[in-house]
Amino acid sequence: MSFMQPSPVKYACSCGILNPINKLFFCRHCPKLRCGYCVTHEIESHFCSNCLENIPSTEARHKKNCCANCFDCPCCQHTLSARATTVPVVRKSEESKDAKKPEDESGDSPAAASTPPTPASSKPSAVPTTKKMYYLSCLSCRWTSRDAGIPDQGVATGTWPDNECLYQARFNSLVEYFQAVVLQEKQEKMEFMRRKTPKQHKFPSLTDRTGLTVSLIRRQMGWNDKTIPKAKAVITPAEATAEVEELPADIFTEPLNLRNVTTIAQRHSQPADQPTAVSSLYPQRRTLWIKRSLRCRQCEHNLIKPEYHPTSIKYRIQLFASCHVPEVVMVRCEQSLASGKSNAILLKFTNPTMYDMTIRLLTTAPTEDAEPAAEGSRIKEEPVSSSPHLRAAGITLSRQNSTREVKREVTDVSNAEIVPLESEFVLSQRDDSKEFDEYVQLPTEEPKFIVWRKGNKVLIRLQFTPAEELPANTDVVLGFAMQYTYVNTVTNAPEKKEPTTHALYSRVFINAGATEQKAN
Ligand SMILES: [Zn+2]
Ligand SMILES: [Zn+2]
Ligand SMILES: [Zn+2]
Ligand SMILES: [Zn+2]
Repeated sequence: MSFMQPSPVKYACSCGILNPINKLFFCRHCPKLRCGYCVTHEIESHFCSNCLENIPSTEARHKKNCCANCFDCPCCQHTLSARATTVPVVRKSEESKDAKKPEDESGDSPAAASTPPTPASSKPSAVPTTKKMYYLSCLSCRWTSRDAGIPDQGVATGTWPDNECLYQARFNSLVEYFQAVVLQEKQEKMEFMRRKTPKQHKFPSLTDRTGLTVSLIRRQMGWNDKTIPKAKAVITPAEATAEVEELPADIFTEPLNLRNVTTIAQRHSQPADQPTAVSSLYPQRRTLWIKRSLRCRQCEHNLIKPEYHPTSIKYRIQLFASCHVPEVVMVRCEQSLASGKSNAILLKFTNPTMYDMTIRLLTTAPTEDAEPAAEGSRIKEEPVSSSPHLRAAGITLSRQNSTREVKREVTDVSNAEIVPLESEFVLSQRDDSKEFDEYVQLPTEEPKFIVWRKGNKVLIRLQFTPAEELPANTDVVLGFAMQYTYVNTVTNAPEKKEPTTHALYSRVFINAGATEQKAN
């Protein structure tokens, strides 16, 4: 099984979407599988992936989410690097006085000058000096900033000119206008809330970034509020026009050279002006990357929380499903697949946890018993509103995670009959030190379906029969519910400290391969 290939084993998330285990998370508090749609994504920090500089979010917004120092090649989107060249600066004797800079060597000091402290005064009058100049160059495609006509700079970073696009002023006025509209709407909403629920919350939200907090505090202190200017529509609506620029005359006469025409990717990387000619490509500021933290939408606990610093790839909280849920790997089928022909598949189970697991394979998913169903309907009725202090503050932040859980039915795509295993089996706990031990197979009584067992891994043989009516070249999908015991070290109830054991189950679907062509 190649690393790059999609996994044939998929787990059903609690929302009903099938995913390989490495794309799933496990909420220990719920305890359920969560996929990318079942979690809220929050931005933890902004950073530049090239220079690894950490940039606070306000500054990132101000810089339009671009790094100030790093540039991408407009040609191949590789990172540009600053190259230094030495440019000879020939100074004529009569110019030297006013052109001379403090860091320059004084070797070109003329003999006729009135200040002769340099010993080089005996040299010829025009001595070439060199000056370091920088240009941006792509090490991947050899594009340089000289191709765009950008003059070399005396400093390596910080001085590169931005290309202002044609519509920059228009963009700016639109941004300004909509910022004012948002501010006004927010103010009206706050004013409305204040009149509706007087003095219910003492402390204004600190997450507010529009400056309204300041006015609220001023009002609470009894100071007169600075009147926020009302946003007035000051933009002129865009008008469609039928007059377009004429095509250049030589477009019909000159042969087209595709090397001078930009590709779609190049145009998209420069969205403001989208140049058609290669000559108008301009170095683009590198866009910032983010570190995300993920939060369960149901219980609002963090599932993933990365370390803050960009150079660290570690996590403070990492509830990946592959660290908590037994991993199923498809090894092989014993025979080639044919419809209606009995077959067996070898599956490897791995226990990633520090506790023994008892696994039972159920051919049908356990019917949602009364308790979870009731819970599900309760969740559907009541929107999961935010944490208690937010509610107490009377401020409903329009957070993304106030969505309700929508349960999809897992569309049962299984098209093979599975022979149930005679019994359940135990997966031993993960013990990293055991990997290095000389393993001695203890003569234990094992169920017949277990092929081998080593450490926390078990290979089992599962018999199945693809459905009778399957046409050739159809993927055979085995579906079963894997029930496993999970020892939870965190508890929702504070008075209970000892770990609790749950019997959880997840539905697993395995794509065993395509049925072979029938020979007839
Ligand atoms: Zn999901
Ligand atoms: Zn950077
Ligand atoms: Zn390049
Ligand atoms: Zn949760």
